[in-house]
Amino acid sequence: GAGQGDLSPEVWEKVKNHPCYSEEAHHHYARMHVAVAPACNIQCNYCNRKYDCANESRPGVVSEKLTPEQAAKKVLAVASTIPQMTVLGIAGPGDPLANPEKTFKTFELIAKTAPDIKLCLSTNGLMLPDHVDTIQSFNVDHVTITINMVDPDIGAQIYPWIFYKNKRYKGREAAQILSERQLQGLEMLTERGILCKVNSVMIPGINDQHLVEVNRAVKSRGAFLHNIMPLISAPEHGTVFGLNGQRGPSAQELKALQDSCEGEMNMMRHCRQCRADAVGLLGEDRSAEFTTENVMAME
Ligand code: SF4
Ligand code: SF4
Repeated sequence: GAGQGDLSPEVWEKVKNHPCYSEEAHHHYARMHVAVAPACNIQCNYCNRKYDCANESRPGVVSEKLTPEQAAKKVLAVASTIPQMTVLGIAGPGDPLANPEKTFKTFELIAKTAPDIKLCLSTNGLMLPDHVDTIQSFNVDHVTITINMVDPDIGAQIYPWIFYKNKRYKGREAAQILSERQLQGLEMLTERGILCKVNSVMIPGINDQHLVEVNRAVKSRGAFLHNIMPLISAPEHGTVFGLNGQRGPSAQELKALQDSCEGEMNMMRHCRQCRADAVGLLGEDRSAEFTTENVMAME
């Protein structure tokens, strides 16, 4: 995991109170996600739309969807109950930038009512270049982009389609557009000094060998952390990979890949793949205490 020693002083200053980025902070500071973003604009073969976006969450989890107004109320309720709450993230249940009105309305409300809370969001990156200025205007300091490939032939095995500018693209062409947009969005954010983490899902036989190249590509564009997560593929999750019998990596395979990238940049190893409505310290889930019903009853 990232500790002070691995990061530049400027980056450390920004992340030291962030439970997801600092090994030490995750014992003392809490984060929460609000599930305000239901739609998605691409299809990943490890996703089942009935559940949360699998780019940030463990598969098979269903979060309670909120309106921006409900989300803002929930943030205030949580912040008054859990004083260590420093970070609010939007990570689904679909793609936050496929729902820009909802995502940015939520940020706007929270910036007004709880200006000290840090904002972050995670995205598949397809629409990222279009929203970089808005992201900057809300002072969002952490963005997570899921990048599983920089080679469209590999991408075609992970993404059956994307929906972009009112048109559906398939196969290699879809993966090419997605990859260009992801890398362009990453560059635009890091040029503006916005911290970017990259998530990659390790899919044995498909992108496992290739992720070292992804690691180089994202490092050269300024990503400060690369979080390689295992594909979690169970037939009962109903994903294309799950139904096709695609396996996930073993713990040793995952560690070997993380080690082969380690010299290249800071790797993140304590991400818990939290649900889109997670609340509390990492490793702790207090989402059940903060259902919409409970929150709306709080004053
Ligand atoms: Fe599913 Fe997330 Fe991929 Fe969209 S980006 S298809 S919600 S895993
Ligand atoms: Fe942090 Fe990972 Fe959980 Fe996101 S999913 S809140 S990055 S630990």
